Amino acid sequence: MRFLLLSALLLIASPLHAAERLNVVASFSILADFVRNVGGDRINLTTLVGADSDVHVYTPAPGDAKRIAEARLVIVNGLGLEGWLPRLLQSSGSKAQLVTASAGVAPLKLGSTADPHAWQSVPNARIYVTDIANALAAASPDDAEAFRAQTKTYLDKLDTLDREVREAMAKIPPERRRVISTHDAFGYFTAEYGIRFIAPLGVSTETEPSARDVAAIIGQIKAQKIPAVFLENISDDRLIRRIAAETGAKVGGTLISDGLTGEKGPAPTYIDMVRHNIKALTSALDH
Ligand SMILES: [Zn+2]
Repeated sequence: MRFLLLSALLLIASPLHAAERLNVVASFSILADFVRNVGGDRINLTTLVGADSDVHVYTPAPGDAKRIAEARLVIVNGLGLEGWLPRLLQSSGSKAQLVTASAGVAPLKLGSTADPHAWQSVPNARIYVTDIANALAAASPDDAEAFRAQTKTYLDKLDTLDREVREAMAKIPPERRRVISTHDAFGYFTAEYGIRFIAPLGVSTETEPSARDVAAIIGQIKAQKIPAVFLENISDDRLIRRIAAETGAKVGGTLISDGLTGEKGPAPTYIDMVRHNIKALTSALDH
């Protein structure tokens, strides 16, 4: 009897009906891919900033407030990436739990600004995924075991990926481990894997570089004989093409920085993204 009563109480207290799937919103495509790998088909997942879009300067769509209002969990990167989010959260009147996926990461600073691109290190991606898994399991205990199993499978894939990056980067001669990218999105990649990135734009794409910034980069490319410049899938490529033309550095291809591509593109998942980037870097630098 006591057991029955307890079960009944638990049923009433449980915010989810057993048959109902957990509603989760992820702020942008890379986080959404992590969440999908943990939650699989046991969750309803909505992504706010979709493929090939710039999360730094997003303008919320009309339906976003409603999506957030219906969510149990809203998963964000944090570290200042989603400057547009606090207002959207407030206007939605959402009671969702906010999960900051980068909370367990040691942040890099550029001056007084935190660098938000922590996912560009695979060990950091591991931390993101583990924290997302814990949040999902706490919100939907009935699914916790399935989430744990799916997470383990995915973390094993990330470990393999991390080894691939290290092996690929080790093949690039040390003096060639320098490239130009559009904005400063690869600080964590540099810290983890030792390829130096120099960018005319800072850690956000919100501001335009000054003529002086561009001139400084051009001087640096010539002085240090930087072999390659890279485009980004989320940014306008005119600036980088101009820098390439003025310096003679070759355009090494496109790096995927802050957003996955669509299904038909080269990087519909995080793992595809990292593999695409190491291939672009090694084919431009590895000789
Ligand atoms: Zn960025």
